[in-house]
Amino acid sequence: MDFDKLVAVYGELEKTASGNQMREILSEFFKKVSAEEINVIAYLTLGRISSEFDDINLGMADQMVLKAIAVAGGRDETKVKKLSKEKGDLGLAAEEIIKTKGRTLVPIGTLTVKEVFEKLHKLAGAEGSGSQDAKISILASLLQKSSPQGAKYLCRIVLSTLRMGVGEMTVLDSLAIAFTGEKKNKEFLENAYNICPDVGIIAGTIASSGLKGINKIGIRVGRPIKMMLCQRVENIEDIKEHIEGKIAVEEKYDGERIQAHKSKDKIILFSRRMENITHQFPDIITELNQNISAKEFVIEGEAVAIGKKGEFLPFQTLMQRRRKYDIEKYVIDIPVRLHLFDVLYLNGESYLEESYLKRIKVLEKIIKPSKHLVQAKRVITDDIEEVEDFFNHALEEGCEGIIAKSTAEDSVYQAGTRGWLWIKWKRDYSSEMKDTVDLVVVGAFAGQGKRSGGYGALLCAVYNEKDDSFETVSKLGTGFTDEQLEELPKMLNKYKLNHKSARVNARKEMKPDVWFEPRLVVEVLAAEITQSPIHTAAFDGEKGLALRFPRFMKYREDKKAEQATTAKELEQMWRKKR
Ligand code: ATP
Repeated sequence: MDFDKLVAVYGELEKTASGNQMREILSEFFKKVSAEEINVIAYLTLGRISSEFDDINLGMADQMVLKAIAVAGGRDETKVKKLSKEKGDLGLAAEEIIKTKGRTLVPIGTLTVKEVFEKLHKLAGAEGSGSQDAKISILASLLQKSSPQGAKYLCRIVLSTLRMGVGEMTVLDSLAIAFTGEKKNKEFLENAYNICPDVGIIAGTIASSGLKGINKIGIRVGRPIKMMLCQRVENIEDIKEHIEGKIAVEEKYDGERIQAHKSKDKIILFSRRMENITHQFPDIITELNQNISAKEFVIEGEAVAIGKKGEFLPFQTLMQRRRKYDIEKYVIDIPVRLHLFDVLYLNGESYLEESYLKRIKVLEKIIKPSKHLVQAKRVITDDIEEVEDFFNHALEEGCEGIIAKSTAEDSVYQAGTRGWLWIKWKRDYSSEMKDTVDLVVVGAFAGQGKRSGGYGALLCAVYNEKDDSFETVSKLGTGFTDEQLEELPKMLNKYKLNHKSARVNARKEMKPDVWFEPRLVVEVLAAEITQSPIHTAAFDGEKGLALRFPRFMKYREDKKAEQATTAKELEQMWRKKR
């Protein structure tokens, strides 16, 4: 397929603010794509060249892209820089330069999607000395061969700023419509995607073997599985309303969730965001190699930083282990302990459909506990007083609360789902009128006075799973330290948009000074949830939900925007409090 055909679709998507229209455009387009090429098209539509979890880094710095445009257009760099400033983005500068280059250079042939994909892989793979020049020259050759509009999007892809407002869920919806005729079949694609979060594979499978093929997709060691999540209740007694019979109560550790995959002699660790974080934890790899007796496994646990006496250290201490360099030093300075709590796969067999008790039994069998590798502590009871005792004890130990887990026959591992089989109960909940929520920053208001030149307040949103959109819920201006305020532009400017993202649902009157692509997640503590006509969270036609006295607590860099608090959860919290 010619790259320009895909570029024309990008153009249409960019002009569209409605999610439904996007699905229509994409599904019509997918129908015309061959089964061999649809995986590539699916990745490129999301501005990528591989699945989200692959360790492929396209990201080119602005300066390098600028050089490539200059080479391709036969212009000097200062001219490109000036144009980019005028237009507000390097993509638009490339479009303009390639439009006028006809006078100086002759275009060479037509660019195909396959060639773009292959060359972008080559570009991402360039390493070592001379790699910068190699990347620039690959991009320049692509730009020379592309149309002006194609040049715009090529630059945005390599800069990771495509931002057309298309998310994975929009692609899955559109695939379901294109290949099964019905959006409701997305359910099957989503189930498969939870076990195989690779849009390329999902697109290729639905196009070549339909829903039958999709339903056969299973676990592959080395490919992350979307993690199972918890619901929350407002009163500890309410756990009984949702979990019948015996409840397994586990300590809730405040660390980082880790999904460990072992095949033959290789172990890979994935984070909650499905990033490969193996290199950060050589100590955990050694522990798993020495103390888990299985050839192949996918197991999960929470890694927590520990002090000299084995006591828990705060989440922020653990976050210092998020680094590329000096790993060995940090292994010594900040030791960790992995608390294992689930088995998803073992020696060729999937355990996703097995009950909690069966999974835990298996875990017990394969683990030899050590100082740095243990099982999550638990009690199994049907007495709510015992649950409460365990909760108080967990707090004394330094945990953030408990997770109550169903032990029923159907207590399967629900990949990628926030269901009622796991329910969390945290310390914050027991203090009156206080809820913490994880919100996505979608905009900002310019600061005044002491804050002028930076941002005075952020516009935050909750996630609407059904529509794959973000609904505004609060302005957030308190709780930041001076340093945090200062670094806000640096953290956010890479997500800046010159329009509202199509995935953000805001009232017309809501006019922040800047809009952002929904990416950054922040934890916010609020005094109360109220109704307000200016926000769109769980909107009832007249009013949405809003937060009173919101306070910034911390960044949740371990979370993706789609893992923020959902509009539905917020509504449940609000209804319970009324
Ligand atoms: P929070 O913001 O309250 O930490 P969350 O939004 O990150 O929660 P939840 O689904 O609400 O995610 O809580 C589950 C998280 O709790 C898991 O992702 C995991 O990191 C952590 N956790 C700690 N201990 C356990 C445990 N014993 N079992 C399952 N998850 C645990």
